[in-house]
Amino acid sequence: MRVGVFYHPDFAERGYITLRHRIKPAYEALCKQAYTNKLLFFEPSITQLHQELLIQIHTASHINTVKAEGFHEVALLSAAGVVNAAEMLATQQLDRAFCFVGTGGHHAGRNYSWGFCYYNDVAMAVLRLNQLGINRILILDMDPHSGDGTRDLVALDPSIVHINFFADENYSYQDNKLNNYGILLDNATDQVFLQALEENLPRAAGAEFTIVIFGHDSHCEDYGDFYLTIDGYRQFTHRMKEFCGTRPLLYVLSGGSNPQVASLAIPAVIESLL
Ligand SMILES: [Zn+2]
Repeated sequence: MRVGVFYHPDFAERGYITLRHRIKPAYEALCKQAYTNKLLFFEPSITQLHQELLIQIHTASHINTVKAEGFHEVALLSAAGVVNAAEMLATQQLDRAFCFVGTGGHHAGRNYSWGFCYYNDVAMAVLRLNQLGINRILILDMDPHSGDGTRDLVALDPSIVHINFFADENYSYQDNKLNNYGILLDNATDQVFLQALEENLPRAAGAEFTIVIFGHDSHCEDYGDFYLTIDGYRQFTHRMKEFCGTRPLLYVLSGGSNPQVASLAIPAVIESLL
């Protein structure tokens, strides 16, 4: 099993302040695990391809706003890792992957962003997958905050199944014909979350490629309104592996700020991907 980990030191040094302090401790914890030598590590850099995907996903006005706020480079570098991981999975150079990021993506819509997010890394990766001929894609967002930006960008394409678990916002938009699902799980425990996963995964049967937006702000000791545990993350990831079989599975880091939680959650998820 070839599992890729995408990481850049800039995520810890130049990422959004709420998110960046967890990055280095989690990466260092990962590097101390007994299974580390089984992982393949990649350090992304920004290329012309990433610049081209960016201007197809976001408006010039939004990009200029991000540049003015000083997060353009690290946000694009974060998206570059996700795009590269998607490409390597699509071309069978990897089986599964986990992407660290310095900024979030799922609150970034075409012409706006909020909540520590700037560029929609996953939407850029989906566009790249479409260019490579992969269209039936599951985006499963388990960060407890709604993936409104992702929805803004992918909602009209019914070949993309967007399953959005969320806790603390009144965001119930659901359109079965367009494969847009919003599942309110306020205060969800492992049991409630895993049950909801079981009920909703069949909606994505036949997906060629699966992207999980993984926020450990869903952990009981982090800032979101889910109450999941490390064991819950392991069970979740094993279920996602079972769902995907031999098809690609890509995890993209999202919310979470607690370094202790990150140092346990991220290695646990990556170990489960192996
Ligand atoms: Zn979140």
